[in-house]
Amino acid sequence: MSATLETCIVDARLESIREKVLAGQRISIEDGLRLYETPDLWSVCEMAHAMRTRLSGNVAYYNVNRHLNYSNVCALSCKFCEFARKAGDPGEYTRDLDYIREQGAKAVDLGATEMHIVGGLNPYLPFEYYTDMLRVLKEVAPRVHLKAFTAVEIVHLARIAKVYKRDDRRGSMRWVLEKLIEAGLGSLPGGGAEVFDDRVHREAFRSKIGADEWLDVHMTAHALGLNSNATMLYGHVDNRAERVRHMHILRRMQDRALARLGYDGLDTPPDEVCEAPTITLTRQGVAMPTPKLGQGYYQTIIPLPFIPDGSALEHLPGPSGLENVRTLAVARLMLDNFPHAKAFWIMQTLGLAQTMLQSGADDLDGTVVWYDITKVGGASTHQETTVWDLRKAIVEAGFEPVERDTLYRRVEREGAEWRVRG
Ligand code: SF4
Repeated sequence: MSATLETCIVDARLESIREKVLAGQRISIEDGLRLYETPDLWSVCEMAHAMRTRLSGNVAYYNVNRHLNYSNVCALSCKFCEFARKAGDPGEYTRDLDYIREQGAKAVDLGATEMHIVGGLNPYLPFEYYTDMLRVLKEVAPRVHLKAFTAVEIVHLARIAKVYKRDDRRGSMRWVLEKLIEAGLGSLPGGGAEVFDDRVHREAFRSKIGADEWLDVHMTAHALGLNSNATMLYGHVDNRAERVRHMHILRRMQDRALARLGYDGLDTPPDEVCEAPTITLTRQGVAMPTPKLGQGYYQTIIPLPFIPDGSALEHLPGPSGLENVRTLAVARLMLDNFPHAKAFWIMQTLGLAQTMLQSGADDLDGTVVWYDITKVGGASTHQETTVWDLRKAIVEAGFEPVERDTLYRRVEREGAEWRVRG
């Protein structure tokens, strides 16, 4: 008796997308939707893998970092958030400068190259708290890169510093960012983007800034020479079409940032997002951007799955593992001008993040000590892994592990001693 082997589902409609991906051409919004809807998930992952290989070769990155959540007190109540507390609630906290100094010293002891600093929109802290925090950290940890404050926090800081002007938003953001840079800010994380869509904004995070302000903060940061990342928190009230649109908006904004860095692009008709040319990093011979004085860019796309536990949207199921893998792959394919795509292991789990390394991701994030924002499993706030575990996960997935700093420069290390190569 002969057995027949069932073959995988093959979707011939993906051929034209594959041709574009392999030729380094940009795929359309409709292509992005098709990638989301096809049953042929393995072809989607394979294309995303081809793109990440073109951008990063056989390398997968990790870093040695610590997270600092300075306060969980927040004036807002976004429905997907289980981190925020109101003042006086059980479990609320705000860290003082002694605690922050101690965290900086620990970062040095452990050889961290980065501190990732975010918190709630605490209405009781003065603007000086934030500049003092960065100064204290720079005193005790001068070599540690401070990646701090989401766009939402930057707007909040403009408000508490009383410099926020509705008719000159970018001027207000610039003022805040200049003060923070003076105090030691090195780059911006990508949080708070959620999904750029008015309906999703209304339904899930009405009081928080919308897409325009989020993008303005990052554009202003880039103009001041800061690099930044971009996230997409998906799988709550959003749908796939809204996610693809979010990705399109981000890549158009990156077109603009790369054009300012001197990249040539294909002249495309201006759209409602911006007038920049189309700039892909996946065409043959196009070099990856490197940090430069005076003009920043988006480094990494970080899709973040919504985790319902403890949030006001707890009744929703949250995205499945396969949806997470697919979303990472689609983001990689849509964002052809983002140098890196991150599988943030702490929200994806290390096991799934490994799978994502074969589906478009080239970065796992880092050792992450004390991550207090939404995470898988709920209660415990102590989230940490070791360099050994990260390297093992990367090798098992078939890649060469490379430690990076925040700006994706290679790091050479001996224990807690490290230096940036080159
Ligand atoms: S997501 Fe951020 S802004 Fe919204 S409630 Fe949570 S901490 Fe506050």
